[in-house]
Amino acid sequence: MDFRVQLEQLPDQAHSRRVSSLYNGLELIPVLQLPGVFPMDDRTMPASPKVSPGTSASQRVDRRRFLQAAVTGVVAAAPGLAANSFAFTTEMPQAQADQFLKRYVETWLPLEKSVNEAAWNAITDVSLEHTRDQVARSLELNRVVGAPEVITQVQLLLKQREQLDDLTVRQLEKIRLRAAESPGTLPEVVKARAEAEAQQSATQDSFTYTLESSSGQPPTHPSANDLDALLVSQTDLAGRRRVWESAKAIGGPLRDGLLRLRDLRNQAARALGFSDFFALQVADYGLTTEQMLTLCDSAIAQTKPLYEQLHAWARRTLAARYQTEPPAGKIPAHWLPNRWGQNWPGLVQGVDMDAPFKDKPRAYITEQAERFYVSLGFPPLPKSFYERSDLYPVDPPSTRKKNSHASAWHIDLKDDVRSLMSIVPDSRWFTTAHHELGHIYYYISYSRPEVPYLLRAGANRAFHEGIGDLVGLAAGQRPYLKQVGLLTPEAEAADPVKFLLDTALDGASIVFLPFAAGTMTRFEADFYAGKIEDNALNAGWWKLVGAYQGIEPPGDRPERTLCDAATKTHINDDPAQYYDYALGTLVKFQLHDHICRNILKQDPRSCNYFGNAQVGQFLREFLSVGATQDWNALLRQTTGSGLSAQPMMAYFEPLTAWLRDQNAGHPVGW
Ligand SMILES: [Zn+2]
Repeated sequence: MDFRVQLEQLPDQAHSRRVSSLYNGLELIPVLQLPGVFPMDDRTMPASPKVSPGTSASQRVDRRRFLQAAVTGVVAAAPGLAANSFAFTTEMPQAQADQFLKRYVETWLPLEKSVNEAAWNAITDVSLEHTRDQVARSLELNRVVGAPEVITQVQLLLKQREQLDDLTVRQLEKIRLRAAESPGTLPEVVKARAEAEAQQSATQDSFTYTLESSSGQPPTHPSANDLDALLVSQTDLAGRRRVWESAKAIGGPLRDGLLRLRDLRNQAARALGFSDFFALQVADYGLTTEQMLTLCDSAIAQTKPLYEQLHAWARRTLAARYQTEPPAGKIPAHWLPNRWGQNWPGLVQGVDMDAPFKDKPRAYITEQAERFYVSLGFPPLPKSFYERSDLYPVDPPSTRKKNSHASAWHIDLKDDVRSLMSIVPDSRWFTTAHHELGHIYYYISYSRPEVPYLLRAGANRAFHEGIGDLVGLAAGQRPYLKQVGLLTPEAEAADPVKFLLDTALDGASIVFLPFAAGTMTRFEADFYAGKIEDNALNAGWWKLVGAYQGIEPPGDRPERTLCDAATKTHINDDPAQYYDYALGTLVKFQLHDHICRNILKQDPRSCNYFGNAQVGQFLREFLSVGATQDWNALLRQTTGSGLSAQPMMAYFEPLTAWLRDQNAGHPVGW
């Protein structure tokens, strides 16, 4: 069979599980669950410098074509909707709601588990058969959770929310949001959206990049990964521009499909009472669009003083590398080592962090990560974790294809937890394993009788990722590495400011925020709200890139042939949720800051969680809440402050001072 492996660098580990319809599931892999899976991240970092492990070039096994074929077959053969009656009685609202929730969970939970199992099979053993099975089960699940009876009843009950307890309202809201992704009340819209999303995915996947040669040679057809690697290594500016322009050519063919998807997604969201699709997605945080934008803009404003210093420093560093004069204001997009300027890897000379892993068996990686959690007082992993997980690359004699993104799974929303990784003993997988077990221990912590199944999820979509990243950050701290014998003398002696600089430039950190919380979030909010004209998508995109990131295109971006927003895969197939990454970044630094200053009483930049029972107690209390409480109230309760970028800025204080010194006498800002 023709398994095309797309090397587009989506992120390494896992990310926020998507509450999405089957049809969103057509786009990527197992994104159909309500509470359970963290399949991909968006930390694209090709050729990441060795200082900062934790990210990777990763492959994305592409199964969209199979999913598309499969769904067509399944839809054609679909039997009539299984009648799921959630009939009302004459009881009081709370009793009615209790009854409704009981029946809903009885119907939904087994289907959820079934879909998770099918998705696990499909991702660990890629085949048309597994994909078809996943699609069939997902369709069945979607029919139930988007059934017109469910929509009617949940809306009626929510009208009486004043008479319902908080836990009930939270569960009903989850049901409403889930239904809004595939409302059975609008079957023709659901179907049209499915087709449009499948078409958009097909267009994306079948695109071939073309790179013109400078020396009269025929053009080449690099993968997206190749283009990323060139943007990190290439020093000739004319060559860089060709690479960048080649990477942007994919947007044009996606433009019309994106406009159609916007309209269909909006129609589905409006059927459930949301003003548009973006408003539906942010509702999972209990926020309006305006509130989300305010939150994001405030994080950008808080971190801008450091971003501007990094921007000024990068301008000169890159100019020296390209042997030219630094630009006076914005940085030309083709100068940066990432197609969107979302991370700036490769600007810092690295330290080899892999050396201590050379002689370790691969089993050491997960075992040490588990020891980390157990040292904090978490239970050992269930035996079934090791029996059912898929932790290593497929051994050569086998022809099995597996997805190589790391991910963490909660199959039954009880005790069946698993992880997919492809571990080799190095520092990147060391951090990744700590990260993935963060998801696993989050699952384990909230799987308790007091937390209803519908609320066995992160406090919001960003929290799961934030927790994984938090432990990833802790796992990279030198005192911890030293204690467990993983720090070379060279790494121990390395300048701490260089570590901070690399951390700020790459991964989920300072440079990433203006892109994630600014450009992406504001573009999608405006796009779904109809505030960007159909014939001004590039103008709208670059206005934001310029304002938030201080980056400009190297030339004209005509509307008719190019669509630069659509070059970002999330805009097409993981829409209106990119702020998750930004907020997860803030959560990571905020919790880390609290743990270091108030519990460990250690420097956040040089600390060691290992073996500290109080840190474990803090984390367990935080994680065991699941989605039963308001996330911002939870943060306030546990750290004394609502979500803020201040702790992140505090983390980088020595770097800010160093950069101010380096940039003295040079222009800052754009
Ligand atoms: Zn993750």
